Amino acid sequence: MLENYQNFLHRKSADFQMLENGNEHSNSTKISILDMTKINPKKCIGCGACISVCPAKAISFKDSKAFIDQKKCKKCYECVKICPVKAISK
Ligand code: SF4
Ligand code: SF4
Repeated sequence: MLENYQNFLHRKSADFQMLENGNEHSNSTKISILDMTKINPKKCIGCGACISVCPAKAISFKDSKAFIDQKKCKKCYECVKICPVKAISK
């Protein structure tokens, strides 16, 4: 009887840890999405100015539109300042 109760507590504790880890993971995903430097492909005219100023070489063309590799982006926002059509936002 006591052994069953101990097993039950052990399982509940494992469930709780999974829940905590899951919440931690989803929070960090949420923060990184909010932190992204974004390019609106409908506004981008493909001038390449952002590519030339990016110190992290995080921007490249994809289907003639600028595209940011979020893993490389250092969030200096030089691209936001230089874009002539305001296609990039913080
Ligand atoms: S914010 Fe800076 S590092 Fe990120 S894409 Fe723009 S220029 Fe590159
Ligand atoms: S500077 Fe603006 S318009 Fe030019 S390629 Fe970059 S996002 Fe597109």
